[in-house]
Amino acid sequence: MPDGNGQTYTFAPPRNRHNLAKLNLSEIQPPVQDSSNDDNMNSLDYVKQYLSNTLIIPPNGEVHEFERHHLEEMELLGNGSFGVVRKMLHIPTGVEMAVKKITLLTNGPDDAFNKSMQRFRLEVEATKAASNCDEIVRYYGITFHEGVAWMCMELMDLSLDKLYMIAHDIQSEDVPEQILGAVAVATIRALDHLKTSHHIIHRDIKPSNILLNRSGGVKLCDFGICGYLQNSVAQSIDVGCRPYMAPERLAPNADGYDIKSEVWSLGITMVEVANGKYPYDGFMDAPILDQVRMVVYGDPPILNPERDTSMQMKMFIAQCTIKDRRLRASFEDLKRTSVFKDYTHSIEHKEIVGDFVLRMYQHRLKLPFAQF
Ligand code: ATP
Ligand code: MG
Repeated sequence: MPDGNGQTYTFAPPRNRHNLAKLNLSEIQPPVQDSSNDDNMNSLDYVKQYLSNTLIIPPNGEVHEFERHHLEEMELLGNGSFGVVRKMLHIPTGVEMAVKKITLLTNGPDDAFNKSMQRFRLEVEATKAASNCDEIVRYYGITFHEGVAWMCMELMDLSLDKLYMIAHDIQSEDVPEQILGAVAVATIRALDHLKTSHHIIHRDIKPSNILLNRSGGVKLCDFGICGYLQNSVAQSIDVGCRPYMAPERLAPNADGYDIKSEVWSLGITMVEVANGKYPYDGFMDAPILDQVRMVVYGDPPILNPERDTSMQMKMFIAQCTIKDRRLRASFEDLKRTSVFKDYTHSIEHKEIVGDFVLRMYQHRLKLPFAQF
């Protein structure tokens, strides 16, 4: 596919959860280059040359020369399937940030390497472009060190999975409805932004990819860069994300994916946070066919009736977890709900969210890291 600069892009067809972004390249223009062998330019070289070693730090968007030795490692924030995320200090500015270390593919067939590098390049560009949205974690920049890409982003206090686990398992308290409302609004707005401004589908909505801070901010992260890279060599299809996949994606005659599948993932995420546990019992240890059976042929998950939940919130979640995607709510439908309206721009709700996040964050500091 030639773009405006005469460069050629090819895409692997969406195959798995790591082919996350559907990119409209007209929205994401690479810089004009005068090199005669652009077509042959390795995508990793491209990322290194044009996207790395510069940090752009809000609020003023100051641009900083950036090298590995400018960062001082602080505590571990989390371990994903494909790498670690660590808090780091940018010494020249004193700004703390979250840094995701992504080990790049360095061997395997040329074709797999080229595709994964091309994907990496496009997804770095997408992440960079899409982070201009209040409900998406801000991207600061990237650098490379000994074959590892260090992706720097806004530091948040807790991911939603850790937040609800601390609340339920340690504090024995329910996550307040304000958190559910804020998560719903932020996810809808982020996905809307990705779709309308960048033609991107996220495809990996789940509690660990929704981050919160003590100011009451709720933001979506993770466009699957690292996952794709490893997956292009050998990973089982859809590893890690199946629990949040809509029935139409899991069904034997699965006929694709659209934005309504993201509505399902949001619904499952909300049930999980409200109930304090993933809603399909035994799912994680079950063989794949049983997992498919539970979601495709079983009843949709419901909220724990003992939890004190408003009727509006119950209805909102129920509309997200309708198995038939034709009957399931669309994002447009969800935007018309009272939940969406009540939790958009509510300072009071935002304060409650921020206070709760801070309280759970403080509890986390007292726990051994391995626990959460
Ligand atoms: P998977 O690899 O299956 O997608 P994951 O989402 O947990 O799982 P990562 O995306 O690598 O994996 O993130 C690991 C953890 O790091 C997250 O669960 C979250 O707790 C923490 N984390 C990620 N990004 C940030 C950030 N910007 N600020 C604070 N914590 C973060
Ligand atoms: Mg993640």
